[in-house]
Amino acid sequence: MIMMAEFYDVIVIGGGVAGVKAATVIRELNKQVRIGVITKEPFIYTKMGLNYIIKSGSSIDLFKLMIDANRIGIDVLVNSVVTRIDFEKKTLKVKQNGTFRIYAFDKLILATGGKPIIPDIEGVGKIGVLTFNDYDNAMNIKNYIRSGMNIYIIGAGLVGLLLAEALKSNGLKVTLVDALPGIGLTIVEEEISKYLVDKLVSRGIRILTSAEIEKILGDRKIKKKVRKVIINGDKYEADLIVFTIGITP
Ligand SMILES: Cc1cc2nc3c(=O)[nH]c(=O)nc-3n(C[C@H](O)[C@H](O)[C@H](O)COP(=O)(O)OP(=O)(O)OC[C@H]3O[C@@H](n4cnc5c(N)ncnc54)[C@H](O)[C@@H]3O)c2cc1C
Repeated sequence: MIMMAEFYDVIVIGGGVAGVKAATVIRELNKQVRIGVITKEPFIYTKMGLNYIIKSGSSIDLFKLMIDANRIGIDVLVNSVVTRIDFEKKTLKVKQNGTFRIYAFDKLILATGGKPIIPDIEGVGKIGVLTFNDYDNAMNIKNYIRSGMNIYIIGAGLVGLLLAEALKSNGLKVTLVDALPGIGLTIVEEEISKYLVDKLVSRGIRILTSAEIEKILGDRKIKKKVRKVIINGDKYEADLIVFTIGITP
């Protein structure tokens, strides 16, 4: 069932830092306009704390973005997925809890972030291959991990490092894999990268650098489930593989 359109002067699609900042700055500049932020997430948050969902003994509350939306007069529509934009009619079709609603806008801001990159290699569709870029991803990892698991994080940038540390705090076997000759090399100098390697190794995290993932193999009985991974021609036992090799629009 489709209901009547609700109007906003400005609608922002995306409740990440960009979307929330855009909405709050517009409110600072103009106290009158109706502003709506539409996000498919269950609440607005900063991704910079997603690792706290997985980290042992942490709280989800640490990463909620506490904007006082009611006080500053911004409507935040959560669990709402924009499925269609009609630029001529200036309307959005939005799925909310199984029903569709139409929202009309004068100005529209797209702040929908990016999607995690998964390389085109054999086995990426198997159960136990995940990504780490949003709340759902973090919950999927949290719900998937079991004591004794062997976890391979592919991509040792900032996101991979945060994830490695969070998983290690759960007592799991964690290996960080990167195609570059060090870790975090896209964000730090070589010297700091070496320091990070020493720190992580001393915490029991295994590091494989100059290493390319080639193939993900399934279990002998349950072929759909991850059991091994081939990196630089070598075969390793694996229960979970998480890609943190960047995002794409
Ligand atoms: C674990 C982790 C740690 C990080 N740490 C740092 C850090 O320390 N420092 C730093 O600078 N950066 C960090 N980043 C990167 C940073 O979080 C991103 O650069 C930032 O989130 C981008 O903000 P954004 O608002 O553009 O997009 P996003 O945060 O991705 O927000 C986009 C939002 O749009 C919503 N959306 C998308 N499509 C639709 C649709 N059709 N309908 C409704 N809603 C939709 C999404 O659900 C999402 O909530 C980190 C990222 C991760 C994953």
